[in-house]
Amino acid sequence: MKLLSVVGTRPNFIKEYSFSKTCEENDIDEIIVHTGQHYDYQMSQLFFKELEIPKPHYINEILKGRIGYETATMLSFIEEVLIEERPDVTLVYGDVNSTLAAAIASAKLRIPVAHIEAGLRSGYRHNPEEINRKVADAVSDVLFPHIQEAYDSLMHEGYEKNDVYLFGDIMKDSLDRIVSEFDIKISRNGYIYATVHREENADSPERLKNIVDAFIESGMNIKFPVHPRTKNKMMEFELYDRIANSGNVEIMEPVGYLENIRLMAGADKVITDSGGVRREAYMLEKPVISLINIIWVPSMLACGWKTIADASEKNNILDAIRNHDPKGERPELFGDGKTSEKIVKVLLERYG
Ligand code: UDP
Repeated sequence: MKLLSVVGTRPNFIKEYSFSKTCEENDIDEIIVHTGQHYDYQMSQLFFKELEIPKPHYINEILKGRIGYETATMLSFIEEVLIEERPDVTLVYGDVNSTLAAAIASAKLRIPVAHIEAGLRSGYRHNPEEINRKVADAVSDVLFPHIQEAYDSLMHEGYEKNDVYLFGDIMKDSLDRIVSEFDIKISRNGYIYATVHREENADSPERLKNIVDAFIESGMNIKFPVHPRTKNKMMEFELYDRIANSGNVEIMEPVGYLENIRLMAGADKVITDSGGVRREAYMLEKPVISLINIIWVPSMLACGWKTIADASEKNNILDAIRNHDPKGERPELFGDGKTSEKIVKVLLERYG
């Protein structure tokens, strides 16, 4: 089987970390295509280096512009590669613009598309990730939802049962791998770990100000690796100097995966608007505070380990930072850490 994996952003690289190792173990001819969506060292090359992900066979030199322009240039780049390589199947991850571009390019060439993390629905039809995921799902031939709710959504929307496989979350594979390789211990060391990057928060002067104000006013020790998009916006909205000089919030450059998991594993709580960080924090037994009122994994909320502190109100955030302290049961929601093996097996059966 010749499989072409398309990656473009930080969360894609982290999933590819497990997937590429599983391909290697199964002697699969995997062609890796990097769309260039995340291109600076800390958001891209760092992960290939530290996680020993094979160097991409094709890397797009993305031309920055509006979303439509960027997506179109990625689509055209991927189309050229697909025509050249003619894989048996194209693999795409999650909900980013690279996913959308690759899924459309491949489907148009009648090359089957496999979608990892399919089916997740928040019900917000204008959310950029929701649009990408729905379109990618619609043109995919085989779908791998990562949680029960995503599987249920696909069934509800009429997807063919034989094309949908619920095997768990490939992020858990990556997390388990790094935790065991580096013997990372879960502990609580008196700080909160924070990440912020979603368009809804980073691009809104009011919401970003509420986040910055709440972090500073809480007086808590907060470790905050800042996504490049958020850093630019903080500078534009004149928030950056204040938070950087606050004394209690430790601003850092984005960190590598190992450092990120170490920091998360040692935190008292995690506050974030990231889909991936939220799930990892839950897997690492941390109380999770979500800075956006969009629910992707209802069962994390239902069991009480995640709370929503929407960034529309500073006091929501302050209250959660001070008081969110779940004690109840924390059910296993994300599978057994063997998701990539199960996906590879199905792909070999279908396209091998
Ligand atoms: N992450 C990282 N370094 C950081 C922040 C996040 O390695 O400084 C990892 C994190 O562990 C998770 C992934 O990046 O696996 C999440 O990516 P992001 O928050 O950019 O995207 P999302 O998951 O929201 O799509």
